[in-house]
Amino acid sequence: MEEKKLIIAVDGHSSCGKSTFAKAIAARLGYTYIDSGAMYRAVTLACIEEGVISGQEMDQEALRKVLDNISITFRPAGSGSAAETYLNGVNVEKRIRGLEVASSVSLVSTSAMVRRKLVALQQEMGKEKGIVMDGRDIGTVVFPDANIKIFLTASAGIRADRRYRELKEKGEDVNFEEIKKNILDRDRIDSTRKESPLKKAPDAIVLDNSHMTPDEQMVWFEELLKKLYGG
Ligand code: C5P
Repeated sequence: MEEKKLIIAVDGHSSCGKSTFAKAIAARLGYTYIDSGAMYRAVTLACIEEGVISGQEMDQEALRKVLDNISITFRPAGSGSAAETYLNGVNVEKRIRGLEVASSVSLVSTSAMVRRKLVALQQEMGKEKGIVMDGRDIGTVVFPDANIKIFLTASAGIRADRRYRELKEKGEDVNFEEIKKNILDRDRIDSTRKESPLKKAPDAIVLDNSHMTPDEQMVWFEELLKKLYGG
């Protein structure tokens, strides 16, 4: 099974642990992990810095300029550590995880221009196969022929609680209600947008991890692998 290089798509709602799960799968198989959400977050940060966003509107000409000149790369922070996101050569990992970016990322992600650009970059990254990518439209748009598609979900309250603890641990000054509202807003915008809305691919396998630990999710994945590829 290890020799067969697969494309694995992990989609699902905001803050349900997609990246933790996708990273663990990539580590288990020795595959490359790509966080497509980090790419939308990096574009959003660039839009904030360049004054593209005003209220719920985006200046299309300014957006085009941002996209024409953007470079998004991932580099490991140290040996064995997770990759961090670089925007035009600058490490933006911390900034893209804050609430300022989280509050605008769903708006920026509704843009067809943004999606065209990022989907093309993501498909390029998947050319070599042996990749696990997480996001919202990976199994539906980016890699409709992915070998394994997982749709991850969990209740909104549990997702908000996990996100709250995570940010608190990082020492951020956060408010539970604000986080929950952000999660629900993102669910709504992501699921109802015209361009590539968040939806389960017909052939995706649903995993509700509301009451599962990361280890239990890996046991579930091992069983899935065994079922599909015989171990
Ligand atoms: O996965 P993460 O929460 O970091 O994604 C941030 C936002 O980026 C999502 O709320 C969604 O608006 C957008 N996104 C997207 N398509 C993807 C990945 C993320 O629209 N494939």
